[in-house]
Amino acid sequence: MSSLLDQLKGLEGLAIARQTVELMGRHHVTPCPQNYEIWLNYHLGTPAVCEAVDSIVQSGAPMNDQVNKSLYDRLFAGDAAQANILITSEQIARELSGVLAILESAGEKSSAYGVVLQNAAQALEQNPNGATLRDLLASLAATTREMAEHNRQLNAQLTETSVEITGLRESLAQARSESVTDGLTGLANRRYFDEMYKMRLKEAGEVGTPLSLIVLDIDHFKHFNDTWGHSTGDQVIRFVGASLQDKALPDQLVARYGGEEFVVILPRKFGSAGQAFAEEVRRVVEGKKLLRRSTNEYLGRVTISAGVAELGPGEDGASLLQRADNALYVSKREGRNRVTLSPPFAPPGRAAVA
Ligand code: GH3
Ligand code: MG
Ligand code: MG
Repeated sequence: MSSLLDQLKGLEGLAIARQTVELMGRHHVTPCPQNYEIWLNYHLGTPAVCEAVDSIVQSGAPMNDQVNKSLYDRLFAGDAAQANILITSEQIARELSGVLAILESAGEKSSAYGVVLQNAAQALEQNPNGATLRDLLASLAATTREMAEHNRQLNAQLTETSVEITGLRESLAQARSESVTDGLTGLANRRYFDEMYKMRLKEAGEVGTPLSLIVLDIDHFKHFNDTWGHSTGDQVIRFVGASLQDKALPDQLVARYGGEEFVVILPRKFGSAGQAFAEEVRRVVEGKKLLRRSTNEYLGRVTISAGVAELGPGEDGASLLQRADNALYVSKREGRNRVTLSPPFAPPGRAAVA
């Protein structure tokens, strides 16, 4: 965050740092670097951070390490993972140029060796007596030893480099996976949803197969958070996420779209199948007696509302999402704890066929 860095240079920076640490002290926040990043941004008025922190402060939940970690994951972890990907990619590129240099030098050495062999053959043809032969063999033995030693070093270098590249490739895969995973639920995050959504829409358009989308939101969740605290709220978000994931087939993507909202992409499924999927999950969630993990206190029941829409001919992703969202809104308006299937897509200028 370079804009932050600019603000933090000089005396003003010292004052800001002191005020941030004081602020953390007032909220009993452990002074570790990740927490400092959250509270510095809060102190400097970064909107997303202020909104998230204020919502927790207003709920009266304690600012313990778990709450701060969940805040950090939500607000910053995506960017950190992105940065990791860039760094790892650069390291791999550097290692690969190293390998190329080694292979080029191997090529030069081998052709030099080839020349020595060729010269020896020529000399033997032209002057095949014992003395020449002895000289030639001595020189060949020396060059061959040199070549063997060089190859040994080369092999060692290549083995080392290949181990390093394997490690880097693993870090890259790990960073990539972190950058598309939601820290709280382990589900796909919005970034990954956006990528997959585009891909699935393209596929459905090209192949002409159906595609359905579910948008799902926990009911009265603000009230739940206010009553039981943010950490227990997090537990419920995890539970709803896991219930969705339980029902999903391997080609169906469940993602946490934001706070307490989820989306599911159902390739090759009609809206009616999406409706059945959402209805099953709605029933599972409604039927679960929630207990607070730390104290076993009964938390009552939580419900969810959903909207489902099926991609229409010539419809784009924004419109499909909007229709699923409108259907969710209908579920909320009609009393929550229900699933609504959107009317089919009506191209602009034409009335919807109900
Ligand atoms: P509705 O039935 O209309 O959806 O009501 P609601 O209270 O669920 O809706 P609203 O969107 O007003 O509130 C969502 C709340 O979700 C606000 C915020 O406190 C909470 N929230 C958002 N993200 C998180 C999170 O990561 N963890 C927890 N515990 N709460 C969150
Ligand atoms: Mg919501
Ligand atoms: Mg809600």
